[in-house]
Amino acid sequence: MAQDYRTIRVAVPVPLDGTFDYLIESGAGAKPGARVQVRFGRRTLIGVVVAVDVDSPVAAARLKPVLRLLDATPLFDAALLKLLRWTARYYHHPLGEALATALPTALRRIRATAETTRNRGWQACAEPAIDPETALVRAPRQKELLTMLRAAGNAVAHSTLLARFPGAQRPLKALAERGLIQAVELPGGLETGTAGTPPELTADQHVVVEALRAAAGFAPALVEGVTGSGKTEIYFRRMADTLAAGRQVLFLAPEIGLTPQLIDRLRSRFAAAIGVLHSQRSDGERADVWKAAAAGAADIVIGTRSAVFTPMPRLGLIIVDEEHDGSYKQSDGLRYHARDVALKRAQDAAIPILLGSATPALETLHNARAGRFDHRKLTRRATGAALPAIRLIDIRSRPLDGGLSEPLIDRIRPHLEAGNQVMIFINRRGFAPALLCHDCGWSAPCHRCDAAMTVHGAMSRLICHHCGSAENAPSACPSCGSESLVALGAGTQRVAGALRSHFPDVPVARFDRDSMARKGRLEAQLADVASGATQLLVGTQMLAKGHDFARLTCVGVLDVDGGLFSADFRAAEHMAQVVTQVAGRAGRADRPGEVWLQTRNPEHPMLARLLDGGYPGFAEAALAERKATALPPYGHLALLRAEAHDARHPHDFLAAAAATIPPAGELACWGPVPAPMARRAGRYRAHLLLHGARRALLHPVLDRWQSELGGLPAARRVRWSIDVDPQDLI
Ligand code: ADP
Ligand code: ZN
Ligand code: ZN
Repeated sequence: MAQDYRTIRVAVPVPLDGTFDYLIESGAGAKPGARVQVRFGRRTLIGVVVAVDVDSPVAAARLKPVLRLLDATPLFDAALLKLLRWTARYYHHPLGEALATALPTALRRIRATAETTRNRGWQACAEPAIDPETALVRAPRQKELLTMLRAAGNAVAHSTLLARFPGAQRPLKALAERGLIQAVELPGGLETGTAGTPPELTADQHVVVEALRAAAGFAPALVEGVTGSGKTEIYFRRMADTLAAGRQVLFLAPEIGLTPQLIDRLRSRFAAAIGVLHSQRSDGERADVWKAAAAGAADIVIGTRSAVFTPMPRLGLIIVDEEHDGSYKQSDGLRYHARDVALKRAQDAAIPILLGSATPALETLHNARAGRFDHRKLTRRATGAALPAIRLIDIRSRPLDGGLSEPLIDRIRPHLEAGNQVMIFINRRGFAPALLCHDCGWSAPCHRCDAAMTVHGAMSRLICHHCGSAENAPSACPSCGSESLVALGAGTQRVAGALRSHFPDVPVARFDRDSMARKGRLEAQLADVASGATQLLVGTQMLAKGHDFARLTCVGVLDVDGGLFSADFRAAEHMAQVVTQVAGRAGRADRPGEVWLQTRNPEHPMLARLLDGGYPGFAEAALAERKATALPPYGHLALLRAEAHDARHPHDFLAAAAATIPPAGELACWGPVPAPMARRAGRYRAHLLLHGARRALLHPVLDRWQSELGGLPAARRVRWSIDVDPQDLI
């Protein structure tokens, strides 16, 4: 047996620490990074080979053979395997699960692996038999298409052509029949962009681009530029440099920042093979993009969080747009932060990485100040437009109608009358955040969470935003029988309704998760905003990023106070970021903008800093506060979470975990304490917070927890997880 088989080490997607050894036929050619199908206990799983010809501590006679080798060419190259090993170690998560998280869903399954999407494209013929100039005099559409394809040089995807020239099918067919263009097969999942003419850089942009060009090797840079300062143009210049050098670019954007506008800008700038990875793409498409990237066929990969794990053998540049965005941190399973993983990846590959934002995370600003990142600033808008003025509306003792105060309505009116657009931002979807009995004070609770139910659809439905429970709203108070039930506060639906009643002739569009549930709806609504068909926009976070609304001159933010008084130490930072980002949507072009914040705390020092000093002024004050309290970035956190149906079990488990920590001056362990939301979806939740003055202090404890806690008797009664650098303590 020994001659015919070799021993390989496989990472299997199970919540167990460690890897497992198997046998494989010597002739199979198994390489690290290839997937194998194996028996694990009574299950059949897909694992990833992490080493071959290993010395197993288990006798060969007791090792099982793999069922099947799935990839002749490894899916993970050596660099990516190394990155995932680091990620699994840093976040204290089993390697097999980390590798599975990195894989597109279709490649985690056995059946779908053979599927590929076909991707047709067109290319101009190099030496056509006829002269297009004379042949196409009376076919302007064909001429236009041919000119575009010739300018592109490369093949352009059929779908890209149709998107840009609706109804292009017939002229394309005619061009092909004339022998002027030919059909080609593009690698699945990729599309080819068209070369576009870049704008002349502004003087500020020029300085930044030249400075970035001067760096070599691992060169992390923070590009802090106010909204509209032309950060994207800076990325594009550095991308062009990278592509010209024959290397690949990885572009990360937050889920809601990865707008059709951004992808269109990429497509109409680079005559390159582009792969797009986001949640709206099918599993098959994502798998195709991944494979094309691994084969080196994709020049640019643009995607959300998990795209940071795309294999790219020629990787030459990483961009993390809106680097402060919370969606870069995964909140379950492998709790990685894509920005931080991207930094590690750039370091391993010795390549530049650009972190861009108008509102950098305090951690990133801290790194920049400490000299770890090159810090480049753009303080003016590229178009010369002025930044909007931000002012407060004091709503203490003012009645609100659907969340809107009278002064805000008065300020919106002239903008609408002048034919401009107005945006109202409220960080809460639904109709109202609570249903209350006017007579006895009862409020509708979620029966599975420590949270109030959100009222949806004008008092008709109650939905819990934490666990998804839904029920019909009662018509009378279940506690006292009174029929005086009132919806307290406002969400997007109620605000939209109030605006419609104040401005009956103005078209209103709502942007939130509920209204965008249907595919293509966001694109359609954005198109209406661009054309001017929509004049009033109401929405959540979804409106805060990336969009360029030329006619938007006024922004109203309905509640900033939640960010000022919260158990979450990052709440103020998030408030300042979102206010600055939504404000940045106003007055983008030639029309000046104004921004109004409704508040009951007009004297709050953090608001004052934001208004006086903008985000940089706010960040200065917020960093000083973090320093005083030794919170990140001045201290390091890890959270051990546990939950169970019985409230005692998480507590017992966490107490046992706490007992394993030796007392040490610079390492503190707080808890166990109930989580701020002590019950969610029927489970009681508690946590233990580990605080270290230095990061190095945390990891030995976490290592021990990762390997030992699973063996505690109390562990069998809870769900538990480790969260390194937690973004929230909820
Ligand atoms: P940011 O990413 O910093 O918010 P963008 O790159 O989206 O900014 O640029 C904002 C606007 O300014 C866009 O409409 C863009 O086309 C325009 N713009 C950027 N750079 C230039 C430039 N050098 N010349 C003219 N317009 C520019
Ligand atoms: Zn009542
Ligand atoms: Zn609930």
